[in-house]
Amino acid sequence: MLVVMQPNASAADIDTVCDEIVRQGFKPLPMPGAVRTAIGLLGDDAQVDWSYIEGLPGVANVLIVQKPYRQAAREWKNENTIVEIAPGVRVGGSDVVVFAGPCSVESEAQILASAHAVRNAGAHALRGGAFKPRSSPYAFQGLGLEGLKLLALARNETGLAIVTEAMDERGADMVAEYADCIQIGARNMQNYSLLRHVGKLGKPVLLKRGMAATINDLLLSAEYVLSEGNPNVILCERGVRTFDSATRNLFDLTAIPVVQKLSHLPIMADPSHGTGLRDKVTPMARAAVAAGADGILVEVHPTPDKALSDGAQSLYPEQFTELVRQLRLIAGAIDRELAPTPPLPAAQG
Ligand code: PEP
Ligand code: MN
Repeated sequence: MLVVMQPNASAADIDTVCDEIVRQGFKPLPMPGAVRTAIGLLGDDAQVDWSYIEGLPGVANVLIVQKPYRQAAREWKNENTIVEIAPGVRVGGSDVVVFAGPCSVESEAQILASAHAVRNAGAHALRGGAFKPRSSPYAFQGLGLEGLKLLALARNETGLAIVTEAMDERGADMVAEYADCIQIGARNMQNYSLLRHVGKLGKPVLLKRGMAATINDLLLSAEYVLSEGNPNVILCERGVRTFDSATRNLFDLTAIPVVQKLSHLPIMADPSHGTGLRDKVTPMARAAVAAGADGILVEVHPTPDKALSDGAQSLYPEQFTELVRQLRLIAGAIDRELAPTPPLPAAQG
């Protein structure tokens, strides 16, 4: 249930509604807006007849939010949510953002070369995994804490925001300390204890769609984070598994407008994992921006042929530079812009 107050409702009117929600055994969540306040309710209230609330002073109307994911629903909040992952790096506004970098952090030289290359091309954030969820336990698992330190070094050198994956609660605490945005990968989209944990940390979360997850599942997973009091959730379409082995995954472009209708949360697209092959990444990145994605997440490696993970889908820096040039034009064609590149950090003496 969502109570929309009249623009001239008094603080006392708002308190009365909140007290009434508490009396019924639920938690009220007042959300002051530019013109009026809305009061949401947390909990399963399907059995309560709320119609009497409409008669209380200052109440404009009462909306029953039908969607199971409530706080992620557009009915709950009509304006688009903008998530600022670092000063000036905003996802969900009119500007389109680009997060780019290698699949994994491999060494100081590799991550610094990647960071400089993607920054020079116009990226806003550096991606790169320190904790890698690999299908095989024998494959490279990431550098762990050392990788996080190298990402922090790359941020100091380039001013790029840092986005990196956490696979468990302990890792999430470490990522929160070093990075700007915690990535929850496809394999962990339904790890509900991890979602609750990052909800409590309050850091921006990039939540990737699971390989077999419906859009409803994705939004319910976002709800786990939101319900812990963390409003900073960015969704990410990264393809789903199908019967077709022609591409690594089936990149679901339609998910972008579908999510935008159902939810106020920003949505990015990852054409690298979505397709799995370098020559498919550029066309699908272009298509994602044309479809209205708030940003793209792309794997770029200084020497993809030597990459320790996902080399086949990683762009060469020159390809990425050309892609960003094209994305600028596509964003312009739909009345958006590529966000400005963050300033270089002041030289440290
Ligand atoms: C990644 O971003 O490197 C990654 C592992 O992605 P996903 O969780 O979408 O497979
Ligand atoms: Mn990868």
